Amino acid sequence: MPRNFCRFRLFAVSLLIAILACGSSPAAQTSRASQNIGSPTTVVIDAGHGGHDRGGIPGQRVAEKEMTLDVAQRLRNLLTASGYRVVMTRDSDVFVPLPTRVAIANSYRNAIFVCIHFNSARRMGAGGIETYFYSRDSLQLASAVHYFVAGGAPSSNRGVRRRGYYVLRKTNIPAVLVECGFLTNPTEAAYAQTASYRQKLAEEIAAGVRGRNSVAGALTATRVATSESIPLQPYIDQTKVAKSEHRQSKRSHKKSARKKKSSSKPTESEASAVPKNPES
Ligand SMILES: [Zn+2]
Repeated sequence: MPRNFCRFRLFAVSLLIAILACGSSPAAQTSRASQNIGSPTTVVIDAGHGGHDRGGIPGQRVAEKEMTLDVAQRLRNLLTASGYRVVMTRDSDVFVPLPTRVAIANSYRNAIFVCIHFNSARRMGAGGIETYFYSRDSLQLASAVHYFVAGGAPSSNRGVRRRGYYVLRKTNIPAVLVECGFLTNPTEAAYAQTASYRQKLAEEIAAGVRGRNSVAGALTATRVATSESIPLQPYIDQTKVAKSEHRQSKRSHKKSARKKKSSSKPTESEASAVPKNPES
């Protein structure tokens, strides 16, 4: 009996050593990471517009493409420092067609997609932060990003919205588009033009990315509220808006999209929410 027990102990110890050895090998770490579906490790950052596509509306003083790239690069630095693998759809002032941006995002598994934009409107008073998502599995990410960005901004909270923007509709991974304020609003444009505010925006987006798995539904949030739990944000579903109403509500974006279409064929603004062919 004792001898058998000894043998068993020896076997157990060698088994433990084998497990530990396997556990520390890169292969084991990779397989563990890929199994860990709840925690994507690649963040694909998409700086809106670029190159000949300035973004915003015609005649807009502050170029949206410059603001989005700067926030995207700051976000990249923050997330890289937090241990994320970061991929940029653009890292300079170049035009990248939307299908290319989507293809980049879809080429990664265990990843999330974060599009950075600034808003614009003909009415100077229009302002605020809004965050868009499309697929249901992007809601947590949208909730978390919006919670931090809207919470940390001096601008009003325009809410989380569900809409079929091309880059959200076509991506296979959780994807959000955050509109970091209106560049046509003098106050928000002044903020956006300071490096410290763009750094703050990047920090809030990064906090949302880190906190995306802490988003809890209303019930859960009240029951097991911790300092880290982020309430699920209510959202406005704009995917069912009739075409005519939709066009009217997004007139400024539509106009800029139309203008872009006439000036350059490949540019489909992120605002092209209503697909010509819903299946495309
Ligand atoms: Zn934009």
